[in-house]
Amino acid sequence: MTECLFCKIIGGEVPSMTIYSDDDVVAIEDINPQAPTHVLVLPRKHIPTTLDIGDDDLELMGRCLAASNHIAREKGIDGSGFRIVLNSGADAGQSVHHIHFHLIGGRPMMWPPG
Ligand code: AMP
Ligand code: ZN
Repeated sequence: MTECLFCKIIGGEVPSMTIYSDDDVVAIEDINPQAPTHVLVLPRKHIPTTLDIGDDDLELMGRCLAASNHIAREKGIDGSGFRIVLNSGADAGQSVHHIHFHLIGGRPMMWPPG
């Protein structure tokens, strides 16, 4: 049995606000949104961090980005712009070790990030 929160969400064991789903990718509303749009795009495959992305996963990563673009258009933030963030490891603040693309938008953002 998995202990991974996002595997449990993908498997339906833990409830979430799912807004997109296909054979490879699931997207959910972030439970603690940092902007008017804050969606988490998850590969169904359990990959703990970016360092664990293998050559076999490269197409899957592209599918995650394509899903992010699709959702950005559906959310109407394609014109105003948005940020896609993939935290990896402790200094980046990664708290769930199943990689996920944060799709954040709907307000201006600062750079560099905090
Ligand atoms: P990170 O810090 O990059 O690992 O991001 C983890 C994200 O998961 C945070 O933005 C959390 O708000 C979000 N999160 C944690 N638990 C849940 C949950 N049950 N449903 C949706 N989002 C969650
Ligand atoms: Zn997982």
